[in-house]
This record gives sequence, structure tokens and C-alpha cells, in this order.
Amino acid sequence: MNIDSNAPIGHLFLWGLNVKAKHLAHIESLPDLKALVQSDEYASTPHRYVLGGGANTLFTTSYFDGMVMVVDTKGIELQKEDEKYSYWKIMAGEDWISLVEHMVCQNNLGGLENLAYIPGKVGSAPIQNIAAYGQSFENVCESVEVLELDTLQSFNLQCAECGFDYRSSIFKQRHMIKDRNFVIWSVTLKLAKPEFHKVETGYFSNYESLRSELAVKGVVKPTIQDIYNGVVSLRKNKLPDWTRVGTNGSLFMNPMVPGNKLRNLLTQFPRLQYYPTEKMQYVDASKLDIHDEKLYKIAAGHVFDELGWKGKRVGQVGTWKNHALVLCNYGTKNPTDILQVIRLMQDDFESATGIRLEPEINMIPS
Ligand SMILES: Cc1cc2nc3c(=O)[nH]c(=O)nc-3n(C[C@H](O)[C@H](O)[C@H](O)COP(=O)(O)OP(=O)(O)OC[C@H]3O[C@@H](n4cnc5c(N)ncnc54)[C@H](O)[C@@H]3O)c2cc1C
Repeated sequence: MNIDSNAPIGHLFLWGLNVKAKHLAHIESLPDLKALVQSDEYASTPHRYVLGGGANTLFTTSYFDGMVMVVDTKGIELQKEDEKYSYWKIMAGEDWISLVEHMVCQNNLGGLENLAYIPGKVGSAPIQNIAAYGQSFENVCESVEVLELDTLQSFNLQCAECGFDYRSSIFKQRHMIKDRNFVIWSVTLKLAKPEFHKVETGYFSNYESLRSELAVKGVVKPTIQDIYNGVVSLRKNKLPDWTRVGTNGSLFMNPMVPGNKLRNLLTQFPRLQYYPTEKMQYVDASKLDIHDEKLYKIAAGHVFDELGWKGKRVGQVGTWKNHALVLCNYGTKNPTDILQVIRLMQDDFESATGIRLEPEINMIPS
């Protein structure tokens, strides 16, 4: 394991920027991690950032005065089986997209198909409880193995102990209080055997519907592979190709508002889509009653559409042509340019709605 100093890291996160870090190390094994935490560089560098595939990270300055620790550990292992499920231990550095393809298409195991084609590594999936098309990481999570960096002791958290919520978890909360003293080392997933597949097509949004995508393809009784193919095709049509255009996907979390606030917003934005928050799933808003005391998740993307943000450019930064919540880099190498547009979007949204949006992406340093 090498520790590079004054190292370029622009290629390690998806925005296509010129950024360097004081120190950079790739961790491929436990001995690598041990050597790293015992190094002088580690001891003398209090700011540290654990990086997966960089699909949810923006370094906001051209020099990160800290240590970037890239998790590159590999391994997929069958742990045990019961009547309905098989349990797989996956190392944090495995690629999420390949894992889903492997489990759904090669092994015919259910649970990951709606989470197809989300860029990043396995170790990041629990951090924000990745979710798409009515499924979330927590639905397949059996446990998460965590390694404390100070002691190099590992422990397992069962799914119920991980505090999973909408784009959040106990791990993200610890990140938010800047306690970055742990690495997610592996996750154990619980995947359904063929007789126990449960297909989830309930996803409904103004923008897209998994059910209509399958109907167009003439699929009446979908298999998990049909769902997988439908999701991949929707995502390829809707989202930019991140290997060509710098992006982190959705920039902001959809905000939660009480029913009385929602009513006000609906007078301003009559086609605004809103969702219940008890189950983090999209449903047809026209079938939902609004109660003043309840919270609803609203589609920030729709408000940005109405504010003229879809496909809008500010210099070399702008939103994707099909999705106003997806910010893209069209040529700048300077993180400040991205940051300025993020602030502009936050300000615009706040002036229109009174709500300050929370970034979904990790902005480092925050
Ligand atoms: C085009 C596009 C579409 C997307 N669509 C979705 C979507 O539908 N749903 C969704 O939920 N997300 C989506 N995302 C966001 C992103 O793909 C996920 O958040 C993904 O899990 C990020 O993985 P990563 O390894 O690249 O994360 P990174 O950006 O490397 O890291 C993300 C966070 O995890 C931490 N971290 C990473 N690895 C570890 C580890 N081993 N131990 C401890 N902490 C760690 C980092 O410190 C950081 O806080 C999308 C992104 C893009 C670019």
C-alpha cells in the first residue's frame, strides 16, 4: 500500500474536476488498512475522507487538505442459506452495478433488481440507504460490518440497528457530525431464491413509471430480469452517462413539508407531486388526502422545472436536459463553479418556496 502525497484525485470522483489531496491511499486488504492507520501521514492528518466510487461526492475546493482513503477491497461470498433466502457477504470495494447484474441476471436472486444501474461501490450503499423504483438498500440488508479506525476492531450491525431512513442511516448521521472514524468493511445481503421473488412495480411518478415501461415492452407478468432491464432502460434514458458528463445524479433531497405548507405550495405549483413519508415509496398523489399535521415528501425536481431550471446552464455548469435536479459539469475543471450553481439553485428554490434544500451529495469539506 502506497501513500501518495499532493496527489491528483479528480479521476476518483465523478465531476471531472482538477482536485488534489494532501494524501491518497488505496485500501485493498486489512493489512493495507493496518499499515495506513499506523503511518506517520495518517497520524499527522486529522482530516480524512473515505471514498468509494465518488458518485455521491463533490470536493468543493481544488486542494483537499486531508487524507483520501479509497476502499478497493474485493470479494463476494455465500454465507448461508435458508428456505427462502441466500445470504451473501460482499466486500465494500465491489462495484454496485456489477453486483446487481451478477445476482439478478446470473444467479436469479431477487431483491436488487430495482436498484440496478446506480453507480458506486457496495460500501457506500448503506450510507444513504440507496433507493430507486420503490426499493431501498434496507430491504435487502441483513447486516453491515463496520471497522473502527482507532482500534481496528470490527463489529456487525443488524439491519434494524442501522437507522435506515430516506437517504439516511446511522452512518450518514455520523458523517454529518464529522466523525469519520470508521469504514464500512462489508455488507451481508439477504436475497430471495427464485420461488420467493417479489416483484415491485408500484413506482409512480410524473416523470416515469416502471409499470408503463414494462407495458411498452409487452411484459405482463414481470420476472426480476424484466424489472432489471426496465430499470436499466429507464435510467439510461433519463440520466446522463456519468462516464462522459460530470454529475452525482440527484443533487438535493426531496424536502418533507407539513400538509398545510403543501396546500400553499399546490396553489403555486398545481402539478406538484407529493408522497407519503411513512413508506419511502412513490404513489399516485391524486389518490392521497392531505392532512395538516402529517408530513409529505415533495418532488423538488418539479419545482425546479417550473422555475425554468430544466436544461439551464450557468457558464459550464447546468442541469440535465431531462431532469432539473441532476446537475452536470459541461466543461469546468474548477470546483467553485459547481458550488456557485448549487448555491444559486438553493437560493432560487428558497425564494420560491421558503424551503432551503439539503444537498443529497457529500460536499467535502462541508
Ligand atoms: C447518474 C447517477 C444516478 C444516481 N442515482 C441514484 C439513485 O437512484 N438512488 C440513490 O440512492 N443514489 C443515486 N445516486 C447516488 C450514488 O450513486 C449513490 O449514493 C452511491 O451509493 C454512491 O456510491 P460511491 O461509492 O460512488 O459513493 P462515494 O461518493 O464514494 O461516497 C459516498 C459516501 O459514502 C462514504 N463511503 C464510501 N465508502 C465507504 C466505506 N467503505 N465506509 C464508510 N464510508 C464510505 C463516503 O465517505 C461518502 O460519505 C446516483 C448517482 C449518479 C451519478
